[in-house]
Amino acid sequence: MHSGQIYFDYAATTPVEPRVMQAMQPYFQETFGNPSSAHTFGQEADAALEDARAHIARLLNAAPGEILFTSGATESNNLALRGLALAAREVRSATRLVTTPVEHDSVHKTLLDLVQQQGFELEYLQVDSTGRVVPESIQSALTDECALVSVVCANNEIGTLNPLAEIGLHCQAHGIPFHSDAAQAGHLPLNVLDMNVDLLSISGHKLYAPKGVGALFVRSGTDLHSTLTGGSQEFGLRAGTVNTAFAVALAAALEIAQLEGPQLNARWLEMRDQLIRGVLGSIPDAMLTGHPSERLPHHASFVFEGVDSNELLTALDLAGFACSSGSACKTGAPEPSRVLQALGIGPQWTSGSLRITLGRQTEPGHIQRLVKVLPDTVQRLRRVEIPQG
Ligand SMILES: *Cc1c(COP(=O)(O)O)cnc(C)c1O
Repeated sequence: MHSGQIYFDYAATTPVEPRVMQAMQPYFQETFGNPSSAHTFGQEADAALEDARAHIARLLNAAPGEILFTSGATESNNLALRGLALAAREVRSATRLVTTPVEHDSVHKTLLDLVQQQGFELEYLQVDSTGRVVPESIQSALTDECALVSVVCANNEIGTLNPLAEIGLHCQAHGIPFHSDAAQAGHLPLNVLDMNVDLLSISGHKLYAPKGVGALFVRSGTDLHSTLTGGSQEFGLRAGTVNTAFAVALAAALEIAQLEGPQLNARWLEMRDQLIRGVLGSIPDAMLTGHPSERLPHHASFVFEGVDSNELLTALDLAGFACSSGSACKTGAPEPSRVLQALGIGPQWTSGSLRITLGRQTEPGHIQRLVKVLPDTVQRLRRVEIPQG
């Protein structure tokens, strides 16, 4: 399979876990009814759907009525932000959106769209050089004009974790709804009461469930407009027939991730730190991006001065390693990462980013092989300095 390639891109997506596959299997052909139908077929599907909802609610310390199924974190983020913004404007004439400069595109571009198409204003919280929100910077943003605050839980590009509970506490004190994108954080404790969040987005395929399923937690009593028109599924907030099989898969995957997270994280953290030490110890002009300790346990990200990340990824792929540059920047569109720019990293460095993310199939031997190959690969791609004179 993949002729011996080693997968180091679990932050992009994960393979479906066999136990998840098994749990969802009956809902494609046996229990296939439309959960909205009143007959027995529909009732059976609906029972499975509501079981999955209750299951996810329990894992997040929420109520079943606070969990909506979506097609993934992109849709959850769109619904959360558009739904909150439109409701806040209608209910209390609030038109300012508060976020960070290090959000995923599904948050970043949705907020920009609300600015461009709907006349909202945007305000960015301060982040430090590790991409972590400076909690004090929230104080001045929490005015009556503030419609919502959205802060990523764990950054996909640099792995940095944000102090959500502290930020959420400030939001609560001012009655401002607080949303967080937790797509990358499925193996960390996701207790919405401890996190002080009012809305939370999760993604199935980042935690060993299929692509195309996600959920949005919405604290009861939150004003949220529906953004899809159609049926009254999901409490009238997300029109469209729910994919029962995928809802069951998400519940199974989240349970496994939450239950096994502590052991997995301990294993990943050890390999991650071995990797970071190996890379920084053997490659000159290399820098870790993101926070050294307040970061995802399975996530390591670097920049190498004077290296082109697309060339590096191609060379690594040829050498048998599937890695990422961290941002969705595709070959041929060499836009510097806005996340790395927000950290104050210069242009000589931002073009040379590398993200290595670990998963269930990662073994210490994989790390050793990468650490052996990487220094020569990077050095070979360094831009040749033309001597002066
Ligand atoms: C992957 C990801 C998303 C998008 O999730 P999908 O389920 O693929 O739509 C959003 N935010 C972050 C931080 C992500 O890592």
